[in-house]
Amino acid sequence: MPVSGLPPYDPSNVFARILRGEIPCRKVAENDHALAFHDIAPQAPVHVLVIPKGAYVSLSDFAANATEAEIAGFWRLVGQVAKELGLEAGGYRVLSNMGVHGHQEVPHFHVHLFGGRPLGRMLP
Ligand code: 5GP
Repeated sequence: MPVSGLPPYDPSNVFARILRGEIPCRKVAENDHALAFHDIAPQAPVHVLVIPKGAYVSLSDFAANATEAEIAGFWRLVGQVAKELGLEAGGYRVLSNMGVHGHQEVPHFHVHLFGGRPLGRMLP
């Protein structure tokens, strides 16, 4: 079992299917290691998901097992997207749900990038 406490990686998850081109997405940007696309049910004027191209179940799995190049490529894309979508001036929020307590629904590591309005103070 990966460190996330989630089941092993399931290649039929929806983000794996997006990566394989089996279902469409509204792509924002990509690099060798990561893909950014708009969330299908946006919770803010800007709500983008950034996912690694590698098969990682969760943040914990990615942090423990991804290569330095994958980690760098992933976080550089998060920053690039925030800049290209004009979020730096007003600010933005990056969030990752992990495992059962984190209410992670899609078992492929991703971060949510929210912006475009004041987001308020966020506590569980
Ligand atoms: P989680 O709770 O796993 O952090 O959030 C998963 C996110 O994926 C949700 O915000 C949900 O709206 C989004 N999502 C689920 N299925 C799809 C899909 O097929 N396409 C896109 N673009 N987003 C999806």
